[in-house]
Amino acid sequence: MRVAVISAEAVPYSKTGGLGDVAGALPKALKAIGVDSVLITPCYWQTKAEYLWSTAVDDLNIDWRGSTYPAKAFYSEANGSPTFLIDAPSYFHRDSIYGYAEDYERFAFFNHAALALLRRIGSAPEIIHLNDWHCGFAAVELASMRRWESYWRNTRTVFSIHNMAYQGAFSPSELWKLGFGSDFARNAFSSDGIASAMKAGLETSDTLSTVSRRYAQEIQTRENGYGLEWLTRQRANRLIGITNGVDYEVWNPQTDNELPANFNIDNLDGKRECKRALLDEFSLPIDLDRPIFANITRLTAQKGIDLMMQIAGDLIETGAYIISLGSGEKKYEDFWQSLRDYAPRQVGIYRGYNERLAHRIEAGADMFMMPSKFEPCGLNQMYSLRYGTVPIVRAVGGLDDTVQNFDAVSGTGNGFKFGPYQSDKFLEKIYEALFAYADPHVWKKIQRNGMTVDNSWENAARKYVELYEWTLS
Ligand code: ADP
Repeated sequence: MRVAVISAEAVPYSKTGGLGDVAGALPKALKAIGVDSVLITPCYWQTKAEYLWSTAVDDLNIDWRGSTYPAKAFYSEANGSPTFLIDAPSYFHRDSIYGYAEDYERFAFFNHAALALLRRIGSAPEIIHLNDWHCGFAAVELASMRRWESYWRNTRTVFSIHNMAYQGAFSPSELWKLGFGSDFARNAFSSDGIASAMKAGLETSDTLSTVSRRYAQEIQTRENGYGLEWLTRQRANRLIGITNGVDYEVWNPQTDNELPANFNIDNLDGKRECKRALLDEFSLPIDLDRPIFANITRLTAQKGIDLMMQIAGDLIETGAYIISLGSGEKKYEDFWQSLRDYAPRQVGIYRGYNERLAHRIEAGADMFMMPSKFEPCGLNQMYSLRYGTVPIVRAVGGLDDTVQNFDAVSGTGNGFKFGPYQSDKFLEKIYEALFAYADPHVWKKIQRNGMTVDNSWENAARKYVELYEWTLS
């Protein structure tokens, strides 16, 4: 089976969040189980030159908006599988990866160029795996082209939803400029007076998936459907959930070379070293018996920062350390700064994006907080499990799929999980975690339960192969 994965970001070429992790790791995992896959992603200004191994196509001339755009494509296998990176400087050589008024145009171009590249490099793949709203354009283009271009006749599309909250909305008057002037295309994008690339992908792809089992149910509800729940319900018989995996070559405390000391399930001494180094790195007093509560995230309402704001005072009262890595909305950045000013001997913050520090926090912390409002999958709770850092999460989306609440009587469970989006429920779980932490035998049991969980990509990749087979059948 030949599969092309198309994604707006992919590790190590680019990453702003979980989509990058998944799109980088899945093609590698597919290759490992014998699937012939290629990844196509943009070449951003942020993409390191060392990852651009060679020029694959230096005259990828794209018919675009009535003229020819002279794009290029680089080749790499830096993520462990064949990758083509579309180079179009005016669209992708910018200060940040997203956040421009014309993002819809940038990714419409990327999709169009990705399909042109596939045509150029060989026979058509049987499956094109599209990801999030950025790829809704390719879903529509393929659905129309398949009718009259024999090259695409046997190609089917899978559309994965990593986050319904981002829909790629723009003015319908732009559609014709992007080449989507037909009635079919206009209907596909049309959503309550706007054009929605997410809606187009959901409507015109052959099958749909979400990045966790629970999220496949949640996007059919009013709360998480963002006005498209009627469509996800209508297409429920073509929709499944596959929980993301973890790339254990990147996230493994035994081999992670970002850490000051390595460790594994049989010997956690190195984790104590990591804790010492982490406290030192944040200029906090070194008391290894006090727990560190950590959080690494984009600072948006989705991530439950409001609940953290509400419990922060009580958590500080317990004497625990709090370490936060992330950037985002100003009110949340200001909150972390004011907490640090209030308790400088207990709170460490780093505002920004720092991959190396993310590894060191996962290793050095004791508890990881993810009280998300919604969480399509979430990766950090799975990294935490492997690093012996106990997750405290809200039971939504992938957090519900991957974290089991600890039961002191049976000794089962790998974290602490609460239901309603309420600070008192979150705080209850924090106190439960602190109670368990006070007994080293109990704590070790929870850590071991988490460290033995297998969330490898191999399992997830096999489920994707089943999805591809189902899509073709
Ligand atoms: P989302 O995709 O919604 O942001 P996920 O939990 O699925 O959330 O994935 C987030 C990924 O981005 C994780 O790999 C996490 O470690 C990483 N990440 C988020 N913020 C930062 C940051 N400030 N520095 C380093 N890594 C970060």
